[in-house]
Amino acid sequence: MSQIVFTPRESSGETRVALTPETAAALRKLGLTVLVESNAGIASDYRNEDYTAAGAQLVTDRKSALQTADIVLRVRKPAADEIALLKPGCMHISFLDAFQDKATLQLLAQAGVTTISMEMMPRTTLAQKMDALSSQANLAGYAAVVQGAARLRRILPMMMTPAGTIAPARVFVIGVGVAGLQAIATAKRLGARVEAFDTRPVVEEQVRSLGAKFVKIDLGDTGQTAQGYARELTPEQIAKQREGMAKVCAQSDIVITTAKLFGRKAPVLLTADIIARMKQGSVIVDLAAESGGNVEGTVFNQTVTTANGVSIIGSGCLEATVATHASQVYASNLLNFISHFWDEKQGSFSLKPEDEIQKGCVLTHGGAIVHSQFK
Ligand code: NAD
Repeated sequence: MSQIVFTPRESSGETRVALTPETAAALRKLGLTVLVESNAGIASDYRNEDYTAAGAQLVTDRKSALQTADIVLRVRKPAADEIALLKPGCMHISFLDAFQDKATLQLLAQAGVTTISMEMMPRTTLAQKMDALSSQANLAGYAAVVQGAARLRRILPMMMTPAGTIAPARVFVIGVGVAGLQAIATAKRLGARVEAFDTRPVVEEQVRSLGAKFVKIDLGDTGQTAQGYARELTPEQIAKQREGMAKVCAQSDIVITTAKLFGRKAPVLLTADIIARMKQGSVIVDLAAESGGNVEGTVFNQTVTTANGVSIIGSGCLEATVATHASQVYASNLLNFISHFWDEKQGSFSLKPEDEIQKGCVLTHGGAIVHSQFK
């Protein structure tokens, strides 16, 4: 009998979906029976009829689908009452927020679920096509510029008109990982003058190759982890960095902050005194809002305006504003993960505890937390 994969409709305002009609068809080809909750794709413009045309079955009884599924695909972590419905031995694949939410992980372990955390996908060449943090951060970087530009009461490109010349806007990107690079590229495409800073020295060349200017701030030894993530700075280094960035912020129209520390709270880089020196009407987009924020005064999922007229956009998940494409690439990450380990003869996912990719992202299995970082 073929295995069942189920994608429930997301809750709590999430606009993305973990299955697209395209990936539904590909999962069917692997031999899976594909169930999708009715209207699961509607907030990202994937219609029920597109799923059924792709060979998926629409489900209205979410509870019984959760009880029968061998694989559950989601964007966000499952609620406690829905974990209780899952079949022991089934596989649950989603973002999990496991560093902040240990209770959900415990429940998944107790329920005997094999839990895959998409945040924990290793950053290796082989796993690149499964790397959902990157696929989403890329779109968030794009959306940050679009949101910032929409809020700004100026234009981004230089314009020479009979009525005079309009100077290009200045955009400053702090943190040049996946999101930062896409923010630079997008702001450049819109014609802005772009500057950027990151604590990882390797980034300077990438910034330059996109036609932006790298802001030099000497912080001494910073480095990066084996996975390519930034190391935490000392309080002295953070103070130096703030000093170095203040002048650039004061001249900028849009500042986009994307500085994150994997699994930890984001560093506060723009303090109130830096923001107080920024121009009336300038806009800060804090892409680290969900992990505490890079900006003093960020309110999660809100836009606030300071006394000196600076808007701070604190949307937690900007990729969800471009949900069609965010879902397309996220669903593709999930499909690539399943396909990579698909055993055609058995018609099932093969668990390989010694595999480097699975070692990285399988958090619970066989009734226990199995990942070394969470045990
Ligand atoms: P991230 O979201 O954890 O952090 C975003 C950026 O913030 C990083 O560039 C980081 O260096 C920077 N940052 C941290 N503290 C800072 C501070 N105080 N000031 C300024 N910047 C600060 O990182 P990410 O975007 O997920 O990726 C980080 C790196 O990993 C990138 O170089 C990326 O290209 C690399 N990567 C590699 C692979 C792969 O090999 N398969 C996949 C994805 C990403």
